[in-house]
Amino acid sequence: MASLFSTPIDQLKGVGPRRAALFQKLGVPSVGALLRFYPRAYRDWSHPQDIAAAELDRDAVIRAVVLHAPTEHRIRKGMTLYKCTAADDTGVVEITLFNNPYGAKVLVRGQTFYFRGRLTGSGRRRMMSAPDFVPVEQADAIAPVYPQTEGLSSRVIAAAVRQAIDMLPETVRDPLPEPLRNRLQLMELGDAIRAMHFPPDTDTLNRAKHRLAYEELLVLQLGLLQCRTHRRASAGLRLKRDWSADYFALLPFTPTNAQRRAVRECIADLMGPVPMSRLLQGDVGSGKTAVAAALCYCAARESIQTALMAPTEILATQHYQTLTRLFENTGLRCALLTGSTPSAQKKICRERLANGEIDVIVGTHALLSEEVQFARLGLVITDEQHRFGVAQRAALAAKGPYPHLLVMSATPIPRTLALILYGDLDLSVLDELPPGRQPVQTTAISSARRARAFRFIRSQLDEGRQAYVVCSLVEASETAPDNRKDAAGYWAELQNGELAGYTVGLLHGRMKPSEKERVMTDFAAGRTQVLVATTVIEVGVDVPNASVMLIENAERFGLSQLHQLRGRVGRGSQQAYCILISDARNDDARRRLAVMTETTDGFRIADEDLKLRGPGDFFGTRQHGLPVLRIADLSSDMDTLRQAQTDAAALLTADPELAAPELRALRAEVKRLFDGVGSLN
Ligand code: ADP
Ligand code: MG
Repeated sequence: MASLFSTPIDQLKGVGPRRAALFQKLGVPSVGALLRFYPRAYRDWSHPQDIAAAELDRDAVIRAVVLHAPTEHRIRKGMTLYKCTAADDTGVVEITLFNNPYGAKVLVRGQTFYFRGRLTGSGRRRMMSAPDFVPVEQADAIAPVYPQTEGLSSRVIAAAVRQAIDMLPETVRDPLPEPLRNRLQLMELGDAIRAMHFPPDTDTLNRAKHRLAYEELLVLQLGLLQCRTHRRASAGLRLKRDWSADYFALLPFTPTNAQRRAVRECIADLMGPVPMSRLLQGDVGSGKTAVAAALCYCAARESIQTALMAPTEILATQHYQTLTRLFENTGLRCALLTGSTPSAQKKICRERLANGEIDVIVGTHALLSEEVQFARLGLVITDEQHRFGVAQRAALAAKGPYPHLLVMSATPIPRTLALILYGDLDLSVLDELPPGRQPVQTTAISSARRARAFRFIRSQLDEGRQAYVVCSLVEASETAPDNRKDAAGYWAELQNGELAGYTVGLLHGRMKPSEKERVMTDFAAGRTQVLVATTVIEVGVDVPNASVMLIENAERFGLSQLHQLRGRVGRGSQQAYCILISDARNDDARRRLAVMTETTDGFRIADEDLKLRGPGDFFGTRQHGLPVLRIADLSSDMDTLRQAQTDAAALLTADPELAAPELRALRAEVKRLFDGVGSLN
């Protein structure tokens, strides 16, 4: 198996340079990688249903004879329908294909096909639009469907995989040691790989998936645990005293109990023998910045430097401003370093960092640059964690002698899952909002009521408050000529229309960083009353005087994203409002908007998001900066995950470096999974 990873993909018959390049694009450079390139789905033609018995509005497979060849209907430019009927012993179904002349030719009268698609209809009428279909004689029981790319079809990939499987040796070296495999009754690797690609039946397929998911999770847990152990074995800079009482005295408000508790937990880590690795989780507006600032302050009191990394320039700038204001009379030295810092200034900043003349450096990815060196880096804080990968966190941490790590995130995930996902992090939660916060009043309206919404916004502006207007695109495009969706056009329209006489700023992702900063500063200082923006404001920005947010085409946003956006208002003690405009009619969109109007609880919203979007998206491992998992699904494979966690811990207790010969293959897999994201420490 190992050697197949060094066998280039073009060794396979039918794979020349052109296809090899396409395989490369799919992340498959070698025969070994191809064997681990699993189908995205399977077509199971093995259990067709009777037309009369199949449930409506669900995917169904039917086996039916074509009654007449498809007829062509040109309904408008660029859209041609092909319609035919097919029947089994129990009923007739009307089949429609869209712009698919090739498919229409295949459907020959009198021949039998399997059709798969959503079955709709009413009364006795049955219909299927754009079904997937194969002639009965061509249908494998369960056929693999590969993630394809332009020029490389699933069929071609399957042919290559067949050859690759033939190249597998009789017994494949299995990363899972035999005793473990026997105890858990897991399939051997070679069998599992064969079954994943060409499963003889569903049961075997499921057993293969389970085995591979287990292996993947075991490898993940081993990597995370090793990483944690390495950190634990190492000593970094340690705090001698708890200075947080002095810090709390600087705050313009009373910290919440949750903030105090989080600070206490962090300080205990900073004073302890083992470097901190902690996740600070708190809903939008819960006051994570104040906790981060506490640690910056305490570290600086003992000449320990802190790096605070934010995902966007706007957010970094804002953190910088917050900290400078807070530390105004303390002698603490803060600086800002981002991609748009002028190079002369960057140079000075780097020198001062290297000389220890800066206590807290706030910045973006620019902090990761190799030229940035520290005199005494002891604390690394990353904000809005899901935008950073494990590798980036690690790159920053490598700039100091095992610095303490704090990762801040507003993505609410259930505690158990967080602990498992962030196997290498301890957890602090801000489960309390600052006092006096009132939930943002949220309404969902259709565009017919937009004028009324703006009347309301104007009344807020007249009371001295500020407003956000969010739209989803930067510029009008061919595909979305409706300029309500386009920030620049919409901004111009509002200034001459609904918001004439008010000062309106524009913020979008394609502006130069310096421009963005100016726009944001103007808004924060109250020089502009309204900010028309794309989702660049989604993360972290804090302007407490903003009391209303209007979101155009709200159906285009995911629930968690809407929640993050809405979190930009209601950050003061006055009532705030969120107006969601949408003309979407489909159930899913309506359900999402309804959830937004019903609750402001981030955990509930995350739950609903999970239900609506499915786990794949929500727990998309990329979001969490973990290596990509191919098989395991972190929400449905919870039991497997727990098992893997226990076994990983046991393996490492017995053999911390996985040095035993029978663990060599397993160790190689850990290395391979984590190499994809860079070294972890
Ligand atoms: P988030 O957790 O979303 O990052 P922030 O740290 O930006 O939240 O804080 C949100 C707002 O709440 C800020 O304006 C901040 O000054 C304010 N704030 C934070 N903690 C408190 C508190 N204990 N009492 C009152 N206001 C607070
Ligand atoms: Mg924040």
